[in-house]
Amino acid sequence: MQASDDATIPHWYDPDRPPVSITDGDGVHVTDDEGTQYLDFLSQLYCVNAGHGNQRIVDAMTEQLERVQYVSPSKRTPARAELAEELRSIAPGSLSDVVFSVSGSEANELAMQFAREYTGASKILTRWQSYHGSTYAAGALTGDPETRNAVESHAATTGVTKFLPPLSYRSPFDADSPEELAEKAANHLEYVIRNEGPDSIAAIVMEPIAGTSGAYTVPPGYFQRVRELCDEYDILLVADEVIAGFGRCGDWFGIDTEGVEPDMITFAKAVTSGYAPLAGVIAKPEITTDLREDGFPLGQTFGGHPVACAAATAAIEEYRDGLIENVREHEATFEAALATLEEEHDVVGTVRGRGFHWGVEFADPETDEPFLDPWTEDGHNPVNDVIAGAADRGVLVGSGRPTTQIVLSPPLLAGEDEIVTAVDAVSEAIDDAF
Ligand code: PLP
Repeated sequence: MQASDDATIPHWYDPDRPPVSITDGDGVHVTDDEGTQYLDFLSQLYCVNAGHGNQRIVDAMTEQLERVQYVSPSKRTPARAELAEELRSIAPGSLSDVVFSVSGSEANELAMQFAREYTGASKILTRWQSYHGSTYAAGALTGDPETRNAVESHAATTGVTKFLPPLSYRSPFDADSPEELAEKAANHLEYVIRNEGPDSIAAIVMEPIAGTSGAYTVPPGYFQRVRELCDEYDILLVADEVIAGFGRCGDWFGIDTEGVEPDMITFAKAVTSGYAPLAGVIAKPEITTDLREDGFPLGQTFGGHPVACAAATAAIEEYRDGLIENVREHEATFEAALATLEEEHDVVGTVRGRGFHWGVEFADPETDEPFLDPWTEDGHNPVNDVIAGAADRGVLVGSGRPTTQIVLSPPLLAGEDEIVTAVDAVSEAIDDAF
């Protein structure tokens, strides 16, 4: 939990150390108030995809501020219209109706509202080990144990049903191949749909590639089966692109890398490269037509803030001008560098991910179990020592949820040198931690 008093924020997951304060950023680096520079291999929580100190984004925001700093959502303004047009041009298939909010949680809540309004059904299905936000309703969509425990007693959990994720590591399914895993996991989803009652289900909400729950990808064919199930049972498919979108996976959206067209996309974080808060939904127009005809009663004061929209349009230009290409170019280098961790450390259970979003999962080599029970998190967790050790070596990486893993998600401009430096730092930190 963030606190307004900085002194209460623990330092790199080690509560015994003083807090760190980041004062500057440049490209893939940030600097703290003592002048120590770090490679930012989490893009400040998956946001700063275009890197720190991007002049094109800063100029676009400044220009907007100088023209008009704020326009209410009930008025039109070019910054919003231009961004909506850009989003339409990169969205998959026929997704074209853009509705803005401020945070990813609110974007998911809007998608829930649209789905319920459009289908007349109320239930939403989401996976265990997912993250969709922490607010009253989005917290209920979330399926990672830490957030679940925190929101369980006060989130709007009614109407949200969880299904098992198609994990290939510590899998809830007994499968010998990715194809069998895809089939078993999709059959399980169909079982859940039929038991819940297809007519009662408005939407299935899924991250195309898990974000904070550890960068796991789904087995080939899984999303195609999910799409088929949605079509067969008249359920909307919502891709939560809050982390997977805007180049992180080597394409505009994570779902593009799966070759599936969803009915709605929710986005936030890197849409502005983290230069200002902005989020939203891109929907097939038929989903939102009735709401629009009724005068569109849903929205937020700062949804589509013009300065944030200007930042986003500039960020999208950056992604288009070579950053997504850079991810594609360096994906294999990233994967190969991380594969050495698995080869060299017997405490690394698996490495997984796509594009510039990778997770390293730790396991006790004797038992194949995590070092810490992810559902209780009692006791000392050496995975946190890896994160602290990497920071001591000048590399910031993230912790997955549950904290049986670390996550590496650098700005999309990282090159081979940075990737190798970051993975070497993690490797040394693993040697120290175990
Ligand atoms: N969806 C996903 C996949 C996320 O990772 C997050 C946040 O990390 C959210 C939704 C919620 O976004 P926000 O924190 O902006 O509310």
